[in-house]
Amino acid sequence: VGLLVACTENVETLENPDVEEDIWITDEAPLKIGFAMDTLKEERWLKDKALFETAIESHGLEVEIAAANGDDALQIAQAEEMIQNGIDLLVIVPHNAEATAAIVHKAHGAGIKVIAYDRLVKNAEIDLYVSFDNEKVGELQAEAMMKLVPKGNYVFIGGAPTDNNAHLLKKGVFNALQPAIDRGDIKIIYDEWTEDWNPEYAFAHMAEALEINDNQIDAVISANDATAGGAIEALEAQGLAGVIPVAGQDAELAAVRRIVDGTQMMTVYKPIQDLSEQVAALAVHLAQDKEFHPTVSINNGKSEVPAVLLEPVAVNNDNLRDTIIADGFHSEDDVYGTE
Ligand code: BGC
Repeated sequence: VGLLVACTENVETLENPDVEEDIWITDEAPLKIGFAMDTLKEERWLKDKALFETAIESHGLEVEIAAANGDDALQIAQAEEMIQNGIDLLVIVPHNAEATAAIVHKAHGAGIKVIAYDRLVKNAEIDLYVSFDNEKVGELQAEAMMKLVPKGNYVFIGGAPTDNNAHLLKKGVFNALQPAIDRGDIKIIYDEWTEDWNPEYAFAHMAEALEINDNQIDAVISANDATAGGAIEALEAQGLAGVIPVAGQDAELAAVRRIVDGTQMMTVYKPIQDLSEQVAALAVHLAQDKEFHPTVSINNGKSEVPAVLLEPVAVNNDNLRDTIIADGFHSEDDVYGTE
């Protein structure tokens, strides 16, 4: 539909109306991809936005981007507007895994395919899901922490319960910890979700965990770097930053600097460039109604969703040069600079 409309627009602007029509049919306006994002509040999503835009444009396509900053109704309205504006395919980072099913139905009603980017949409027949292996993210956090703290009291500060990734990560963390919990080596003394991944709530959770356990805490696994930052502030208030190790994910610059400073023990690096490039290539492919059948699929409560899952990488002080800096994810100056 988008293509036809675009062609008609081209014809209307013609200066020579005598030109054969089929010449103009080959002069197709670029396909347009909609990118409906949840938030731009965290560093990673700004990277996702810029990299995805570049990747789509490198294929010669157009991209329309909106971010809803955690507002479900706004995210639905923004996606509806994109559909009305004639996008050829919708890529979505859902704020709420369940609520966004409504968008998928609307898009499909308009003949537009939907790709879930990084976060799964639940209970809707989405066409493709491209993300990192989020269970593995949790496993990497727990494995790194158990190496350092094989026995002791563990705090788990989870992500947003409305985000499927938070559930996958928690599953990965607990899968890895379970044998040590069963042996009685590790005790989970605090376990709480963090609404909207909000660092202020994570701060409050950590402060509460410290208070009810008289600071008797040996390790903290936090669902991402933003929440880890909140938790570390609460530790700092007790003089315990750098004493109690904290794990996060995303390799945000602030977290990588904390790793260098010793207040955060590790993070999980997810090369966003690979994610954005894969999604862009697949969006271009599917927007042209070409087939794609990955070998992996994930059940989202409604259907087996074809999926592509990229590998996350555990990063600590020992390998951050060979990973994050080598990839150009952050520059040496940004990480070690004195600013
Ligand atoms: C992403 C994380 C991110 C979190 C909060 C999750 O879905 O996978 O990388 O930190 O959302 O935005």
